Amino acid sequence: MNPYLIVVALVCFSSCAIPSANAAPCLVVTLTGTQGGPPAFNGLAGSGTLVRYGDDGNDCGNVKLQFDAGRGTSMRLSQISVQPGQLSAIFFTHVHSDHTDGFGDLMQLRWFYNSEGPRIDVVCSSDTASPRGFALSCNKFAMHIGDAFLQSGEIAQRHSENEKRLPRGPSGLINVVTFEPRNEPQVVWSAGDVKVSAIRSMHIAGHASYRVDTPAGSVVVGGDASNDVAAPPRASSTSDQVERLAKGADVIVHSTVHPVMAPERGSGMPSSSFHRQSTAGDLGAMAKRTGARHLMLTHLIPSIGAERHGGWKVPGGPLTADDYRKAVEPSGFAGNLVVGTDLASVRLPATAAQR
Ligand SMILES: [Zn+2]
Repeated sequence: MNPYLIVVALVCFSSCAIPSANAAPCLVVTLTGTQGGPPAFNGLAGSGTLVRYGDDGNDCGNVKLQFDAGRGTSMRLSQISVQPGQLSAIFFTHVHSDHTDGFGDLMQLRWFYNSEGPRIDVVCSSDTASPRGFALSCNKFAMHIGDAFLQSGEIAQRHSENEKRLPRGPSGLINVVTFEPRNEPQVVWSAGDVKVSAIRSMHIAGHASYRVDTPAGSVVVGGDASNDVAAPPRASSTSDQVERLAKGADVIVHSTVHPVMAPERGSGMPSSSFHRQSTAGDLGAMAKRTGARHLMLTHLIPSIGAERHGGWKVPGGPLTADDYRKAVEPSGFAGNLVVGTDLASVRLPATAAQR
């Protein structure tokens, strides 16, 4: 063999997959689904946000964190070449199905192709008793995610084809990490120089909001948080705890309701449903107060172009992205406003083309 080729091979083994020491750190925040709530409309994926961190040498891809996993998450991830087996951890803000019903698909795929591991951390609130007495359990949700496929016999059938697949199905690949949500930020997950903190927030019992801190910047994922005071009069529809968590963060990703859906405008949306979301205007004001550079509105209620939101009508007809911009404008938020569409992204630092 040509000795020159051997040298090239050795150099490659020792450095090709490893970024150079001076590669710049970077963070990419991508909306993997922007549908607000349970309806299915116009092919939008269900709620979710992917946060990638790394450096120039690995396309910001050392760590891949998925926050919520609504309908169609695996399809959106496939469009940006992220496979379920590559996710480092999944975080849930709460166990409503519009934030969780893509999880079974993600985990079944991970089990199918990556049963040899590693296991994935699923991070969420510990079991909570709701005010009406029933329990909300992210832990049980995760641990039973493969039950229907166990019952149908698919797990046994595919295991018989390939014995490397875990016989107990996808739950065997999950490491559930639960925490008691508190009113102050607490670190709930970390890896290298990536730290994820959580805070208690209101929407349903057990709801939590998250913040990711990295050397390239920080992002807060609010989920469906709203103010602890369930209805007006209150200073804002946004959560005081999320505001605390977001102080100084670069990016805020947050579920949004447009004020046109207010019950007094004739939408038919129940007051309790409307008031447990944050309005676009109040999110702009919160982002201004915390000093965010980017506000990404997601989980839009109603979806852009929709005449109805589930069973409720959109008074005055379908909204445009501009209608959401106009709702934020009076807040004076002067940063970059992203009215969420599936796969909309913010990169820190911005590339020359994005500046
Ligand atoms: Zn929701």
